[in-house]
Amino acid sequence: MEFKRLRRLRQTKALRELFYETRLYSKEFIFPLFIDDGNNVFERMPQLDGIVKVSVDRLQEALDEIKKADIGGVILFGVTSQKDEMGSYATRDDGAVQQAIRKIKEYSEDILVFADVCLCEYTSHGHCGILKGDKIDNDKTIEVLSEIALSYAKAGADIICPSDMMDGRVAAIRKKLDSHGFVYTPIIPYSAKFASSLYAPFRDVANSRPAFGDRKSYQMPYQNKREALREIEADISEGADAVIIKPALTSLDVISAAKEKFNIPIIAYNVSGEYAMVKSAGKLGLLNEEEVIIEILTAIKRAGADAIITYHALEAARILNGKEL
Ligand SMILES: [Zn+2]
Repeated sequence: MEFKRLRRLRQTKALRELFYETRLYSKEFIFPLFIDDGNNVFERMPQLDGIVKVSVDRLQEALDEIKKADIGGVILFGVTSQKDEMGSYATRDDGAVQQAIRKIKEYSEDILVFADVCLCEYTSHGHCGILKGDKIDNDKTIEVLSEIALSYAKAGADIICPSDMMDGRVAAIRKKLDSHGFVYTPIIPYSAKFASSLYAPFRDVANSRPAFGDRKSYQMPYQNKREALREIEADISEGADAVIIKPALTSLDVISAAKEKFNIPIIAYNVSGEYAMVKSAGKLGLLNEEEVIIEILTAIKRAGADAIITYHALEAARILNGKEL
């Protein structure tokens, strides 16, 4: 009987490596950085196995580590107790995130600064939008988000990343940025953001749990792949320069389909719950953590991601640049 011997090309390490279809580079990782509005804060957070929350005056220590890892960039999230109904802290020129953006760009032009734009870290009710009664006022919210985006662009953010999932926010932010001369500031929205239980460690850290209800009227049902593609299509038509899909591991099919369908870069967000599962299992000795991290990130890239936001960024960069697996 005739048959194919696909194993021929797997006989040696050299042969296998010659034909790897997917290779990871540290430059395609983006590291989430939590910026605290206090002083002298450099806290390794237990919910995220040692990922730091840092105040602007201690930022240098985090940046030294990031620079050494030679990754692509950081995405910033603000942590503050100064909250109100409108999330007004988010637009303050002296806000923690605005200060951090300026400091990072001073420190190194090579670290790309992605500014996450949302309201949930700044509103007293913890929702990603402005409320009218107990409902989100979509159109009012996108006005406020545009102001936040402009404030981050003015501070020097390289890329604006709205994560709220309101309708029309990309068009509104593009218009706002353009009208203030920021025509070359890219917008990379969270286009397909599923309502997921995998965000739990992040919400603890960012202190952004909704005070009532949930986020299911704006984040997407994870049951829906075609709707995710419609969201991506809408954001592209409004001017998105690339798109973010999250969570990563439960959306590999969406990443893959988006890659086939749209000619636009895709960033996958390997979220806090995915990180926590690997870290916890590693601690219990149930798996080889380093091997699993590289396998997961490779699979996300194989599915079609061009870059990955991941809490593993620094350790993955160390693994890739430091030794062979
Ligand atoms: Zn939010």
